[in-house]
Amino acid sequence: MTQLKDDCFAHGDELTPLDVALEQLEKTVEAVVDTEEVSLGRALARILGENVKAERHVPPHDNSAVDGYAVIHRDLNPDADTRLPIGGRITAGHKLDGLAKQGQAYRIFTGAPMPAGADTVFMQEDVRLAGDDVILPPGIKAGANRRFKGEDVETGSVILGRGKRLRPQEIGLAASVGRSTLSVYKRLRVAVFSTGDEVRDPDGEAPEGCIFDANRYTIMGLLERLGCLVTDLGILEDDETVIGDALKAAAKDHDLLFTSGGVSVGDEDHIKPAVEKLGSLHFWRLAIKPGRPIAFGQVAGTPFVGLPGNPVAAMVTFMCIARVLVLRLSGALDVTAPTYKVRAAFSFKGKGERREWLRARLEKDTDGDYSAHLYPASGSGVLTSMVASDGLVEVGEEQAQINEGELVDFLPFTEMCP
Ligand code: AMP
Ligand code: MG
Repeated sequence: MTQLKDDCFAHGDELTPLDVALEQLEKTVEAVVDTEEVSLGRALARILGENVKAERHVPPHDNSAVDGYAVIHRDLNPDADTRLPIGGRITAGHKLDGLAKQGQAYRIFTGAPMPAGADTVFMQEDVRLAGDDVILPPGIKAGANRRFKGEDVETGSVILGRGKRLRPQEIGLAASVGRSTLSVYKRLRVAVFSTGDEVRDPDGEAPEGCIFDANRYTIMGLLERLGCLVTDLGILEDDETVIGDALKAAAKDHDLLFTSGGVSVGDEDHIKPAVEKLGSLHFWRLAIKPGRPIAFGQVAGTPFVGLPGNPVAAMVTFMCIARVLVLRLSGALDVTAPTYKVRAAFSFKGKGERREWLRARLEKDTDGDYSAHLYPASGSGVLTSMVASDGLVEVGEEQAQINEGELVDFLPFTEMCP
């Protein structure tokens, strides 16, 4: 596959640094979807549409952290064993009636409510039994092995914030305060098209000169990972009317439209005139590599993203820019994908003045640290490079040179499409 020259779009407007573009998206784009109430069992990976306030303490009562014996610390000899009769047995889910009596120990199990008045629990491994008594060694601190009411969550506190993507632990926390449903944003309905006379669906034939459609599948996969409801709308031929009609129809019942291909400025790139007739289109000329201009616009009020046609460029521009738009429109607030420092197993000389992403796989060195190994072919059509890689080494705008052994920023694919 021939690769277009990097400078083929180097005309017209100034290049925009990536951070400026991302900041603009983060500042201007908000959730376009309503919220709905879902049961906890259906809330995984959804985006929270409310601030969740705890209606109760967690734990709701003081309780034992271990299996053992609950006592009143005052009853213990500071320097010698203490022998106490066992005054009762408290298992999880069952409360002792009345107060703990002075001079008595209580057999207690993990999670069982502390008997009122007792303040300290001995682990069963640390004591000896003698008939109906228990012999307790000296030296335990008052309050040992006791979990306090509200030590995890206090009634009235906001435990989860709107805009948070729900992982298993968030759902568990909501359950722990007694929530059985949560308000989440409705899934973003996203329509995906490919464009190009040469692009064919893999379930059919690809006559000479044609290629199979890779982008629609990578883009649909990325969108699904981000929690969208994806509609596969197939492949559009390079025809302004066909493209315009299809986008207009899709705009009616979708929250976002995606295309790939046809957004260069060649004669056969029909996205621009088609979208401009139906709304607006802006070519963002970002200082990034790989990446052609990415088109952001609106079709009859529905946001539109035109990704580049080259499969690697389509995926990388999606992950690094379009992803932020998708998440924002879906209601997510924290949209930053973290980078991790790994060692470069390569040297690299970039052009500088643009953000560059190098496809790399991680390998564990003998010292246990990870180093990044570059994929040898870096063409923006080489999809095998994405398959062979674990993520992207991010080369900053100011960082023209990377020396082998240096620490570099690594952006794992798992962070970009969790
Ligand atoms: P374009 O942006 O339409 O000029 O396309 C750039 C390159 O990407 C060309 O080599 C296209 O054949 C290729 N391409 C476009 N769409 C797809 C697709 N859906 N799957 C794989 N390759 C594509
Ligand atoms: Mg094309």
